[in-house]
Amino acid sequence: MFRTAILCTLWAAAVLGPPLNKDRQKVLLISFDGFRWDYDLDVDTPNLDQMAKDGVKALYVTPPYLTITSPTHFTLLTGRYIENHGVIHNMWFNTTTQEKKQYYQTQFVNAWWDNGSLPIWITAQRQGLKAGSLHFPGTASSYQGETALVQEVEPRFHDYKNETTWQENTDKVMGWFRDQDLDFVSMYFGEPDGTGHKYGPDSPERREMVKQVDRAVGYIRASAQRHGLVDRLNIIITADHGMSTVKRGPGVDEIILSKIPGFSFQDIAFHLVDYGPSGMLLPKPGRLETVYNALKGAHPHLHVYKKEEMPAHLKFGNNDRILPIVLWADLGYVINGYFPVQFNKGEHGFDNKELDMKPFFRAVGPAFRQNLVVAPFETVNIYPLMCHLLGIEPEVNDGHLSVTKHMLVTSGSSPEEREGDSWGYQKRLFIGFSAMGGFLVIAFVATVSSKLLKKPKNKRSKSLESLPEKVDIKQTTL
Ligand SMILES: [Zn+2]
Repeated sequence: MFRTAILCTLWAAAVLGPPLNKDRQKVLLISFDGFRWDYDLDVDTPNLDQMAKDGVKALYVTPPYLTITSPTHFTLLTGRYIENHGVIHNMWFNTTTQEKKQYYQTQFVNAWWDNGSLPIWITAQRQGLKAGSLHFPGTASSYQGETALVQEVEPRFHDYKNETTWQENTDKVMGWFRDQDLDFVSMYFGEPDGTGHKYGPDSPERREMVKQVDRAVGYIRASAQRHGLVDRLNIIITADHGMSTVKRGPGVDEIILSKIPGFSFQDIAFHLVDYGPSGMLLPKPGRLETVYNALKGAHPHLHVYKKEEMPAHLKFGNNDRILPIVLWADLGYVINGYFPVQFNKGEHGFDNKELDMKPFFRAVGPAFRQNLVVAPFETVNIYPLMCHLLGIEPEVNDGHLSVTKHMLVTSGSSPEEREGDSWGYQKRLFIGFSAMGGFLVIAFVATVSSKLLKKPKNKRSKSLESLPEKVDIKQTTL
């Protein structure tokens, strides 16, 4: 009978499962690099459409300026505008040594990222939660000596568009949530940015890639289901910026700084140009006015500002890392230094007011309302939303929960919700005890029958010993 009691307890525990902590919801933040807000309008996207029906869709979201990858992703992680978090460019640079590091190498420059603003992983962990990150910009760095508990950085020459790898990574992240009980994970996909750059945002190649992203969204939601996470996992899918077609051809007046009268690279101590439509210049001592006066108004599609005179809406001036002269081009144009060296058909990095720079936004999960389309909002507001879902105190940030709170079913502790939880638990308790009762009846009948039949004890033992391991496992997971 003692063995029967143990089996009953195991069985009941298996049916009931561990006690649910409904107040603590999980959050998965996903970025599909360069997914413009309207990419689903000219392609069949059944999975993105279903996600909108099951959750919330924003018409678009507004990224911070400068609309390039690392700075805008760090805004998602911190809720701060770029001039406030200080990751002002994809490239680390040193104006004295002239050294520059590209996007990938910059991931490993701690000082570039660990610059006063804490990403949400660290804040969550300091408040008792567990966080992870896969390939998300900023993952490789440590912050005040801490990193995300589980982190995976892509290898140097990673194939960002391999769909099989996307699926493997998705299952890996869902495994982190289920098996390591992580509360927050950020996950990054490098497309459709790469395809948008290479072929342009209006190309058939981009449309094909959006279909791949849509399949990935379906796979992500199915994987969450398979891992038993849908009751607690909120999935937010967005991007860092959009994409715009670069104008080329005989009729296009390209911006080439060296050709501008009165401008000379002789006056420049350090420059960051040939990087899409944005640029920064550090003039040599005493040459700032000369450089500024030469460039200002020199090209109808080139904007030239001293950093302290930057238009307020860009919020890109008030940081020591920003160089004294900031340049950007109108949609369709890129800024070349000595001669044209840029051949991408699509670019980003333009003014964040431009519709082409706006990313998409979807959210689904137990916290989110269903079939709700909301007005555009700035991506700085995603951070306080995520902190709210996780139940953690946010760091100082530039977002406001009031902007996104209407997307949520409740604040998370309303009487109805508590009632709902308690009914759910009672139901499971009832099922558990019914099952246990049924088992006790069967066990009683079996014990009595075996005694009546007087089966030899050794045969029964032998048959139990010879049971395959699989059956044992099955018994404990009834
Ligand atoms: Zn990007």
